[in-house]
Amino acid sequence: MTVDAQNAASPETWLWFEQALLDTGWAQSVRIGLRNGLIDVILTGAVAEPGDHIHVTGVPGLSNLHSHAFQRGMAGLAEARGPSRDSFWTWRETMYRFVDRLRPDEVAAIAAMAFAEMLEGGFTRVAEFHYLHHDLDGQPYGNVAEMAEAIAAAAAETGIALTLLPVFYAHSGFGGAAPAEPQRRFVNDLNGFHRLMQASERAISILPDGVIGVAPHSLRAVTREELGVVCGMTRGPVHIHIAEQVREVDDCLVWSGARPVDLLFDTVEVDRRWCLVHATHMSASETWRLTNSGAVAGLCPITEANLGDGIFPAAAYLAAGGVWGVGSDSNVLIDAAQELRMLEYSQRLGERSRNVMADEAGGSTGGAMFRAALAGGAQAAGDSVSHGLAVGQVADLVALANESGADERVFGDVRLDQWIFASRDRRVDAVWRRGGQVVRNGRHVAHAETTRRYARVLARILDLGNA
Ligand code: ZN
Repeated sequence: MTVDAQNAASPETWLWFEQALLDTGWAQSVRIGLRNGLIDVILTGAVAEPGDHIHVTGVPGLSNLHSHAFQRGMAGLAEARGPSRDSFWTWRETMYRFVDRLRPDEVAAIAAMAFAEMLEGGFTRVAEFHYLHHDLDGQPYGNVAEMAEAIAAAAAETGIALTLLPVFYAHSGFGGAAPAEPQRRFVNDLNGFHRLMQASERAISILPDGVIGVAPHSLRAVTREELGVVCGMTRGPVHIHIAEQVREVDDCLVWSGARPVDLLFDTVEVDRRWCLVHATHMSASETWRLTNSGAVAGLCPITEANLGDGIFPAAAYLAAGGVWGVGSDSNVLIDAAQELRMLEYSQRLGERSRNVMADEAGGSTGGAMFRAALAGGAQAAGDSVSHGLAVGQVADLVALANESGADERVFGDVRLDQWIFASRDRRVDAVWRRGGQVVRNGRHVAHAETTRRYARVLARILDLGNA
């Protein structure tokens, strides 16, 4: 073999971990070679070689199954009490005022900030539920995918993998009510949306492993007839907001006589392509229907807590074998471990119990949640999305640092329990996305520049708000 051929065949980057969570389970002294964006070699019981990136714990990157990237710009700005009882609906008014001012380059800057933080927080792919489509006056941009291109540009810049879910939004309430003025930038008819889907597919073609799906916004914003048409526009994942709010369930009952999850199942065939985002308020039979369909429950525990939505019926759902993953939704705080912590803690408070999300007696809660969120997140992000650490998979890896003073002999799932329940900020030490390092020492490699641009954009938008 010539020297050149030898070089061509050897990994470009070598990582070494004290412990790593492989597809086959935990292993010690793991050396992983990366080539052409993929995992090329995995050696266990191996000694680190000169030039290896040496880290403590290696785990696969998670998919963040639900995000509205632009809402990162409102984080912490909607926490003051209003004149009446605050709820999701008063928060939505604040969001509408914010959205009124955003231009495409600003959306790109805010999305880059959100995506960089996702990578810093252990997510290597995001399913972006993208509904801000049109110009300030509600007219489509000359290029209908202008905003989709801004999202794709932010993904390309930060390195995060993108599943783009263009949102079909047409009405302000059940039964095809006319859209309200603050919704003008979201609204399409079916023909306009078909053009947007085609242009969005072109927009993500700049990405190495972009996936396109579709998102009928909710049963409030889409009629039953439109739902069928929109779902047929792609073979990719289908996501929908559902049963997030008690008022939404009540309105749905008044209008149709059925609860939202029942109404969805009575209207279209829901299968494993689907992700039902929130699904907070379900009856026992709705929970059973969702579990049986193989669809993913898209849980967003931090946002659901922030908006006062309610608590997902996890114990019943898990007992029936339901699939789930987590999303950062409003992006008020972006961190995979904290999403999982909030999920388990909300269950403990609701059930007055402990280790609700663990899957067997003696089993680790953190380990069970991480594996479930890894598989469910990837399923929701698209069939072609690879996940897990095995030869041939896309090289999306996260290195966790040890807690200071943590015992180095702690092995396996306890490391995940420590990360999820007992760590403070930024225990993600390093991240590789498609073989390239995107997070170093806990920070995205372009952190300073991304933050500066974000701050400039926010200053302009908030100044407008004060004018
Ligand atoms: Zn959402």
